[in-house]
Amino acid sequence: MKYLWTELTSAELRSLKDEDPIVLIPVGAVEQHGPHLPTGVDGYLAESVCVGAAKLANKSGLRTVVLPVQWVGYSPHHLSLGGSLSLSCETLVAVLTELSVSLVQQGYRRVLLVNGHGGNGACVDMAATDAGRQMYGQGIIGALSYFSLVSERQSEFRESGSGGMGHACEFETSLMLSLYPELVEMERVQDHIPQPYLQNTNNDLFGSKKVRIYREYSAVTPNGVVGQPSLATSEKGEIIFEICCEELAQTIKNISEKEITN
Ligand SMILES: [Zn+2]
Repeated sequence: MKYLWTELTSAELRSLKDEDPIVLIPVGAVEQHGPHLPTGVDGYLAESVCVGAAKLANKSGLRTVVLPVQWVGYSPHHLSLGGSLSLSCETLVAVLTELSVSLVQQGYRRVLLVNGHGGNGACVDMAATDAGRQMYGQGIIGALSYFSLVSERQSEFRESGSGGMGHACEFETSLMLSLYPELVEMERVQDHIPQPYLQNTNNDLFGSKKVRIYREYSAVTPNGVVGQPSLATSEKGEIIFEICCEELAQTIKNISEKEITN
């Protein structure tokens, strides 16, 4: 079975509509990920999790397809460290909103934006909100960050303490080691755990006490890393990947069960 939208013919996609499929839109970023990881990490991981979850969902009879990954996100805070690309917040919201609306207008009524980059969070949420408002009663448009789905299951994979998972960290490096080992240069790994900018806040990927304040990444970390990638292993990455796919497949199921009404 094919899961990628771009591998299907137009006729196959037209008849797919009769199965009321879920369409996943992976949203990435192209930005520096420290000395040991490539710039495409967030797109690679968002797409891999979408495809993994689509396989699980299709196995249980929920037809799910994955759009091409939207590569460039909102990353102005990474530009000063080099090798990064960014859209404006307005452009990213417009692209994701229009893409979602165009799907529902064609009859693909269940759309889920699957984000892979923390910095995109507010834009992805806004796109789903505004597309959902425009298509209210005709379709469901959801948004989530795939890593937020696994925060309650951290004890199943986590070794680092608070601050060990942030960016190019134990979490992302483990996933990359298991999915794209040829793109990881573990001999260049460096850890960096910055002090939180405000007292009594937490800048961990899964931290609950967070306050949103814009900061250039060059002021946060000299090497572009936030966390402890030295603790990453491919075994850990396999466990994380499995949990991400399971949790996303469950969300797909939940969305597929909703009646679409006003
Ligand atoms: Zn990342």
